[in-house]
Amino acid sequence: MPTPPSDDSPGPPGLVTLVGAGPGAPDLITLRGLRAIRTAQVLLYDALVAPELVAEANPAALKLAVGKRGYCVGSTKQEHINDLLVGYARAGRSVCRLKGGDPCIFGRGGEEAEVLVAAGIPFEFVPGVTAALGAAASARIPLTHREVGQSVTFATGHHDPDSPECQLDFDALSKMTTVVFYMAVRHVEKIAARLVQAGRAGSTPVAIVTDATTPRERVLVATLDDVAALMAEAGLASPALVVVGAVVAYRELFSRATAAEVSR
Ligand code: SAH
Repeated sequence: MPTPPSDDSPGPPGLVTLVGAGPGAPDLITLRGLRAIRTAQVLLYDALVAPELVAEANPAALKLAVGKRGYCVGSTKQEHINDLLVGYARAGRSVCRLKGGDPCIFGRGGEEAEVLVAAGIPFEFVPGVTAALGAAASARIPLTHREVGQSVTFATGHHDPDSPECQLDFDALSKMTTVVFYMAVRHVEKIAARLVQAGRAGSTPVAIVTDATTPRERVLVATLDDVAALMAEAGLASPALVVVGAVVAYRELFSRATAAEVSR
């Protein structure tokens, strides 16, 4: 694990860009994000980021894998990333912090920004295609749609719904038309049950999309009643998104249209 350079640079701090890499497929990054990767002197990237994007860095740039599945593990992981960001920026280097999806959708981009502001370091957010949008497009699900999807909600399913850490309002969520849960693999059974308890029909369609927009992508369509059983049976694992709502039913229609086109 490298240690950040010491704060002995007399010059101004370098700019930090907190960049969204997109959901998986490397060509789903924005042009601004790609420019930030190519011009940075230091690239700190999450391990889920496509290697093709890391390969875009300047050959002279320092490239460090941080975060999930990188060499940074354990509870001090985020603090260490913060130290690296501040350390390299204070040493006058331009830093690109490349994160999966969008940096500020369940990506700790806000936390890193707080640290940079406290340290007096200039930064910019560069948005990315968040996993929900990538997965929905890939699975042919329109997240909003007239009549059946007048809103879309992004929620985290990371916490056990029975634990005090979980602050989700299942009564409210059960009334929202489309809800996309991130990090929900472990608690999908309880989440589905809580939505049904709160009044959502058990027959509401649900799609699970794993490894969205990558060659490993898998999509499972179920209902709130049977999603947990079907998911276990299919052996689906993280990274996965759970899309709940009537819009999921459009996947079938939109897939059929494509099949007809292909056979023409
Ligand atoms: N900032 C990221 C989300 C980070 S949280 C974004 O905007 O997309 C990590 C969670 O995102 C995973 O547990 C999973 O729920 C979801 N996720 C990320 N990439 C994914 C992918 N390719 N397919 C499905 N889900 C994905």
